[in-house]
Amino acid sequence: MTFKAEYIWIDGTEPTAKLRSKTRVLADGAEIPIWGFDGSSTNQAGGHSSDRVLKPVFTCPDPIRGGDNVLVLCEVLMPDMTPHSSNTRALLSEVAERYAEQDSWFGIEQEYTFFKEGRPLGFPLGGFPAPQGGYYCGVGADEVFGRDIVELHLDRCLAAGLKISGINAEVMPGQWEFQVGPAGPVEVADHMWVARWLLYRTAEEFDVAATLDAKPVKGDWNGAGAHTNFSTRAMREGYEPIITACEALGEGDKPLEHVKNYGHGIEDRLTGHHETAPWDKYSYGVSDRGASVRIPWQVEVDKKGYIEDRRPNANVDPYVVTRLIVDTCCSALEKAGQV
Ligand code: ADP
Ligand code: MN
Ligand code: MN
Ligand code: MN
Repeated sequence: MTFKAEYIWIDGTEPTAKLRSKTRVLADGAEIPIWGFDGSSTNQAGGHSSDRVLKPVFTCPDPIRGGDNVLVLCEVLMPDMTPHSSNTRALLSEVAERYAEQDSWFGIEQEYTFFKEGRPLGFPLGGFPAPQGGYYCGVGADEVFGRDIVELHLDRCLAAGLKISGINAEVMPGQWEFQVGPAGPVEVADHMWVARWLLYRTAEEFDVAATLDAKPVKGDWNGAGAHTNFSTRAMREGYEPIITACEALGEGDKPLEHVKNYGHGIEDRLTGHHETAPWDKYSYGVSDRGASVRIPWQVEVDKKGYIEDRRPNANVDPYVVTRLIVDTCCSALEKAGQV
């Protein structure tokens, strides 16, 4: 007897990487082996030395095929088993390991937009729907577009054992959000990539494309972000470390370093309008959805908890945003003796 393993990896497409996957049939009880692929077809190799290695790093039940079938998230390696330049997970693992003692948690809010026939789901042919206002967390056929897909995606994420923690309809028609976390940096990012794959794969069954484009409709329509909520053990126990983390994110070159790596097209989304702070001006504040980093109201009341970095784009690489935040905040907390 056999089972199917769907090997999933992140490719080298510029400026935003895409997901790829292929199926391997394995004998019952078999280990999930290392595998390979043609890197010249994924922008990860030239044509003359094109073999790239798939190293399984996270396996979960396949909620689509069911049974004993599995999804297998992989890192991409060179034939000599060193990480490929597109392999941002390897970089994160190093940094996460260095600061493991601080017990970082992340919750990432993934916004996305459904497209059908070249326009967002719910947009009429050749025109625009009613302006934003009623769609966020809406109900009813005049407000909500694509709920069947969203519900099926949620069920599949749960069946796969992913740490998905909620869903909601967003501000623009056809725009939605799911949240993954809280979980450690590598785990939250692995689960996010698999949840994204399940989103594309599920929408495909409805002839709908899901996109993480940060500004899918120009003009007076909200962009799509990936608010990244973060805490360390010390932040979950006291307020001073919360302020240290907010300050660290604003120090020197840090704001620019972060924003540059928070996803393609970030200047188009972080305009200072539509619940964003301008990309070139760092700020933090309590309850402030117009700040780069928000301290939730409840966190100020409790004097402990977490912070929300509102800058990352929907198309951010979760391995990159978690690495940068851990690096910047955990090193500052260590220096301040707040660990
Ligand atoms: P918003 O009010 O900004 O829409 P959401 O409810 O969509 O917030 O998402 C909040 C996220 O923060 C969730 O993914 C949740 O798991 C995560 N979260 C909650 N507590 C913590 C914490 N202590 N550290 C990190 N993330 C957390
Ligand atoms: Mn949210
Ligand atoms: Mn949102
Ligand atoms: Mn948020």
